Amino acid sequence: MEKFVYLFNQGSADMRSLLGGKGANLCEMTNIGLPVPPGMTISTAACAEYYKADQKLPQNIIDEVRENLTTLETAIGKKLGDTTNPLLVSVRSGAVFSMPGMMDTVLNLGLNETTVQAVAKNTGNLVFAYDSYRRFIQMFSDVVLEIPKHDFEHLLAEHKKQQGVTYDQELSAETLRAIIDSYKILVIERTGSPFPEEPIDQLFLSIEAVFRSWNNDRAFIYRNLNKIDHNLGTAVNIQSMVFGNMGNDCGTGVAFTRNPSTGENILYGEYLTNAQGEDVVAGIRTPQPIAKLESEMPEVYAQFANTAHILEQHYKNVQDIEFTIEKGKLFILQTRNGKRTAQAGIKIAHDLAMEGLITKEEALLLIEPGQLDQLLHRQIDSNATLNVIATGLPASPGAASGVVVFDADHAEQLGKTGAKVLLVRTETTPDDIHGIIAAQGILTSRGGMTSHAAVVARGMGKPCVCGCEALKIDYTKKTVTVGQTIIKEGDLVSIDGATGRVILGLVPMVDPELSTEYLAILAWADEVKRLDVRANADTPEDAQKAREFGAKGIGLTRTEHMFMGHDRLPHVQRMILAENPAERHDALSYLLPIQENDFYGILKAMEGYPVCIRLLDPPLHEFLPSLEDLLIETTQLRITQSNMPLLAEKESLLKKVRALHESNPMLGHRGCRLGITFPEIYEMQMQAICNAAVRLTLEGYTVLPEIEIPLTIGKAEMAFFKEKIDTIAKNTMEKHQATFHYLSGTMIELPRAALLAGELAEVAEFFSFGTNDLTQTCLGFSRDDAEGKFLNHYLDMKILAENPFITLDRKGVGQLMKIAVTNGRQTRPDLLIGICGEHGGESNSIAFCHEIGLDFVSCSPYRVPIARLSAAQAAISKGENYGTR
Ligand code: PEP
Ligand code: MG
Repeated sequence: MEKFVYLFNQGSADMRSLLGGKGANLCEMTNIGLPVPPGMTISTAACAEYYKADQKLPQNIIDEVRENLTTLETAIGKKLGDTTNPLLVSVRSGAVFSMPGMMDTVLNLGLNETTVQAVAKNTGNLVFAYDSYRRFIQMFSDVVLEIPKHDFEHLLAEHKKQQGVTYDQELSAETLRAIIDSYKILVIERTGSPFPEEPIDQLFLSIEAVFRSWNNDRAFIYRNLNKIDHNLGTAVNIQSMVFGNMGNDCGTGVAFTRNPSTGENILYGEYLTNAQGEDVVAGIRTPQPIAKLESEMPEVYAQFANTAHILEQHYKNVQDIEFTIEKGKLFILQTRNGKRTAQAGIKIAHDLAMEGLITKEEALLLIEPGQLDQLLHRQIDSNATLNVIATGLPASPGAASGVVVFDADHAEQLGKTGAKVLLVRTETTPDDIHGIIAAQGILTSRGGMTSHAAVVARGMGKPCVCGCEALKIDYTKKTVTVGQTIIKEGDLVSIDGATGRVILGLVPMVDPELSTEYLAILAWADEVKRLDVRANADTPEDAQKAREFGAKGIGLTRTEHMFMGHDRLPHVQRMILAENPAERHDALSYLLPIQENDFYGILKAMEGYPVCIRLLDPPLHEFLPSLEDLLIETTQLRITQSNMPLLAEKESLLKKVRALHESNPMLGHRGCRLGITFPEIYEMQMQAICNAAVRLTLEGYTVLPEIEIPLTIGKAEMAFFKEKIDTIAKNTMEKHQATFHYLSGTMIELPRAALLAGELAEVAEFFSFGTNDLTQTCLGFSRDDAEGKFLNHYLDMKILAENPFITLDRKGVGQLMKIAVTNGRQTRPDLLIGICGEHGGESNSIAFCHEIGLDFVSCSPYRVPIARLSAAQAAISKGENYGTR
């Protein structure tokens, strides 16, 4: 019979998919002899059974939980619901992938009017017993009975106010008793039934609630954001309680084995004395730094530091550890790989490899490629004069400016309009997730470095300053007051997540410097990757930037913007409006030297590396005024009869625009079809490239232009242009007595070109997959229409798993690519093949490009580091380089 329940000594770390991350690690820690309170894990398979049975726990699972509970009770010597020695447990979710704060937890389960007295008697501490009971009622009611926490907090606050106390632990037994009574009345009012007294009922109701919480809104949003499979389900961990709230020799905390913000190798975290579980993460009291524990409880600190070291060595990764101290004794409640900032992620991976704990390849696999991007983002200019109004905790680095917004819904609304917002809250909860996603940065007045806002912002790479207690936030008036300064909703504020500074107004920002660890990691990546990484760049400045980020060439220079500037556009329009080839030649002769200089600049910036230049691609009407504008202008001129020559000019323009108008421009007169109908345009561009190459060659530079024909459907077009390229190149080289190496090739953007790649390669010397158009034409989706209208439905309904314009559609588009690679190389074994659509900078797509044997990927300059690391990870996971140190 299938086993659904595992005691902590029956599992291990590699049973993660069955036991969830938390359960598997609790088992692993139990096995290596760490002080873990005993318990059991109900597997993710049980969660699936629960959903299969229409959200009911099947009887066999109920029986298995009961059996294991008996074993646990015997081992601990306490019994759930026992009137003299009651066992209290926590019930927590634990998914396969960590989803901090997204699902639910119930602590102190097993308390009722009888057991609470037993606990008071056994501990000699009635305040503690009542405090635990009122917390339990509150959590259970929230998680299981779905009565909002806020309603209980409201009652608690009223009692505190009546008693004139600030902190929970100042409440007397009498007041706590009164609070419990008021909580119970609230439960009856809301549910019509009394609070469940029977501990075993409490247990099963909580287990089911945790399974249900897998599908709550915030968990759903979190999974979508982090691309976690909705079918995985959660495990449930039932663990005997230890108490951090029994007095001042007790406490609870969270610590990382290294600093998750900077990566520095020191224990990093926070704790609260005389507090329970969620108090630290909830951000209600601002906790003490872990270093203080060393002076407060030196022995416990030493034991904790040693345990942290053991865990890091064991898991070969930074650990995020939850612990509780009960009457001077340390217990470890959880460990998991610590979430970290991009900066810390790189330093940690680098340092762990240098310390010999992991190999360089393992270090490369530890880094999430997308995080590299964050480090290329802007920081506050250190020379700027700043109006710093307060300083909080530096919870997640990077700088952000935005208009102040006080609630998540509003942040989301404004974000959708394109506004940059700064979400300002006393503290955030998982319910604010949509606002955090929409905001540029997060600022809170309460909570520590491990508060919800801090953890989530770090995970998303958003700047965050938290625990900024100088801020007095008034949600009703929608203001935040700092000393004499009053900031209203809509005012501009900036934060610096690296230092914790809160600054009035906008701030000047600068590009960051890359750390030595960053550069070392990328150098390791270059050692193991097989794919070359190039950049898409249209200007010498972009080419230069790309080179700095490590691009080894340009995979796509789009030439259309070279037709746009005010010195060019009139000639481009003249060229389009020309009535005959002679007029067209005249206009083009103005453009030739201008384009020659453009190419000169780019080839020079990329000296020594290949530069792939694509000839003109967009339809010609894009260079003319819009039909609508011309209609209005001509109508006005006709009515006023004020300027007849101008009217004639505009009417002729209108006629041309009408003639060029297309019902489906994406599939219309564009790409090399322009070169077929107006060969002079392409000839001018070919000439300009050759002139620039010759000039640079004569100046002593090595240039490697690749002339690229867009949107071919097969060999015939390519042959037509190849002949022209060769003639122009030959004549130019002869004329100037200089030789340079060049290639002629094509974009593969249409299914037909991919299918006929074998023939195409007879003339094309290289292919570059233009997967933006190839995706549009393979799926028959126009990107703008799809993303604006129906693609989200396709994703929601799981007709498509991913947006194919972001992550390459391996099944369809990928199939065409494979055919093109195989057939192209069959004809021409040394055919150079790359990708230059947006997928060239996306990790998953890069892995595919590696698998099917492309030579290079090309992406925007800022994505070059991501592509370098992704290419390395692809090579490592294919086992090509694994194992060297
Ligand atoms: C492509 O289609 O993938 C491509 C790179 O060309 P563009 O995006 O300019 O259409
Ligand atoms: Mg294209």
